[in-house]
Amino acid sequence: MAPPDFTNKTLFPSFATCPSIDTDTPITTPVPDEDWYLLGQIKDDMTLTKPTLVLSDRDGAPFALVFDGLDRGALDFKRLGLRKGCTAIIPRARRTVPKEEGKRGFVRVELGDAGGVKGIPGELGVVIEVVRRMREGKGEGEGVCGTCGMGEGEGEGGRLLRCTGCDGGARYCGKECQVKGWNEGGHKAECKIIKAVGAIWG
Ligand SMILES: [Zn+2]
Ligand SMILES: [Zn+2]
Repeated sequence: MAPPDFTNKTLFPSFATCPSIDTDTPITTPVPDEDWYLLGQIKDDMTLTKPTLVLSDRDGAPFALVFDGLDRGALDFKRLGLRKGCTAIIPRARRTVPKEEGKRGFVRVELGDAGGVKGIPGELGVVIEVVRRMREGKGEGEGVCGTCGMGEGEGEGGRLLRCTGCDGGARYCGKECQVKGWNEGGHKAECKIIKAVGAIWG
């Protein structure tokens, strides 16, 4: 299954267009029936009393992600893949509007939903680009060598080698092209992104 379209603004809203919770009145925007996901690049761990991350959304707007009902040491962000510079995917995120103007808005993750927040090992812009190519099957994933573009069955060996790291997300006509694709072609960084995205939307 191909991953969903990360450029779809309904499925992947920016922080500003996420459904909001106003602290004075209960829920102010209707919640869509379909699941939606907020994407954010992790800037910092700002944990004080509760596990808290500071992220920036696809438009570069900052927001905080607060894991409710947990003590400061309760989550191992690194083990969850929520490292600085990586991308977090927050399902059904709802924006809390701060009471005071000028204060940063945040998304609260209820106790029990923490495991739903996924980390992708790459910067947000790179992740969006990799997912776009995964969907198009351009160069990689298709039946052509990711480095030289040779098609399946054209070479001497016949079948293309599949990258085992991302379960065939990239294919190569031979060992030489595989090594080239890993180093110069940048697959080293993309492989783990493809794998992580595939684990969510297999
Ligand atoms: Zn090749
Ligand atoms: Zn790979």
